[in-house]
Amino acid sequence: MRRKLVAGNWKMNGSAESIRGLLQGIREGAPAVAAVELAVFPPFVYLGLVEQQLSGTAVAWGTQNLSEHASGAYTGEIAGPMLQDFHCQYVIVGHSERRTFYGESDQIVARKFAAARKLGIKPILCVGETLEEREKGVTEAVVERQLKAVLDSEGVGAFTDAVIAYEPVWAIGTGKTATSAQAQEVHAFIRRQLAALDSAVAAQTRILYGGSMKAANAGELLAMPDIDGGLIGGASLEAKEFLAIAKAGC
Ligand code: PEP
Repeated sequence: MRRKLVAGNWKMNGSAESIRGLLQGIREGAPAVAAVELAVFPPFVYLGLVEQQLSGTAVAWGTQNLSEHASGAYTGEIAGPMLQDFHCQYVIVGHSERRTFYGESDQIVARKFAAARKLGIKPILCVGETLEEREKGVTEAVVERQLKAVLDSEGVGAFTDAVIAYEPVWAIGTGKTATSAQAQEVHAFIRRQLAALDSAVAAQTRILYGGSMKAANAGELLAMPDIDGGLIGGASLEAKEFLAIAKAGC
């Protein structure tokens, strides 16, 4: 049985003050949605604050990115061992904003995935097609290519302690959500890719949906057999809305 994971990607939002309030709301509401695992992904500079506020609670935390390197002359980058200092359980890799704005290739993403796992930090690997790719009918080919880069270098066994997030790029931050049927179709495709290599790994790997998920559409999406949670952007910045999404998965 896969326990659902509802993860909040705060992106480059928040201040010390707003994050304190958000965390207080999440801490207070978390016990009522304990059937679902919760995790938050703040900007790096607020990691210490998040660790301090969430230690001893059931809510996990991590970051939105990491360097593929462990240390060295990489100005502006943050390395995996630094995330370990803040006891991060997860890290997002290959978010479409990283792929698009910062030129992260499938190979770079695969190296980041490996760097996280090596340290015992679970990567959340984001995959998903653009609107143009969907309209061209190449959604499956794109997702397969993104997944294959990691499978080829890390092997299917690596997904025992990793999570996949299917995030159609056209649905991120646009208010356009994939229908539950559209999302389920791609989630099932992803699971089949894993199952072709190892059915046990496929059965246990959590595949999250991301793209304008909110309380109003979460119930329908999370009821799908291959949707094991959500990666939530905008709607994770309000404790009430974030918790309502988790409630829909209980
Ligand atoms: C995301 O950035 O991962 C995301 C899904 O954003 P939003 O929920 O705002 O579409």
